[in-house]
Amino acid sequence: MDGQPGRPTRSSTLTVPREKPRRETELMKVWIDQDLCTGDGLCEEIAPAVFTLLDDGLAYVKDGADVKNEPGGSAGMAAVPDDLEDAVVEAAEECPGECIFIEQS
Ligand code: SF4
Repeated sequence: MDGQPGRPTRSSTLTVPREKPRRETELMKVWIDQDLCTGDGLCEEIAPAVFTLLDDGLAYVKDGADVKNEPGGSAGMAAVPDDLEDAVVEAAEECPGECIFIEQS
C-alpha cells in the first residue's frame, strides 16, 4: 500500500540519540557485607589483590596493603585498580553470600 502522503522532512530539528560518554575518571569501588559472608574464600582466590580473609573467618576488601576491616561493611570501601575490575565483578558474581557490592562513581 503506497497511498500515504509523504512525511514532512525534518532537517535542523533532527535529534540523534548519542551514547552516554564514559567519564575518564569513573572509578570502581567495592565493599563486603560481612554479616552475609560465608567465609569460603572464593573472592580471595579470584582476586587476592582486592580481597582477603582475616582471622575472624570473614572476607574484607583492601586498598593495596590497607585492609578495610575497621570498620568493614559499606564504610570499608576500597578502590579497584582498572586491571582488576573484571576479577572483582567475577568475584561478586560467584560470591555464595551475594555480599560483594560494587559501586561506580
Ligand atoms: S566469596 Fe563472598 S561469601 Fe565467600 S568469602 Fe568472599 S565475600 Fe565471603
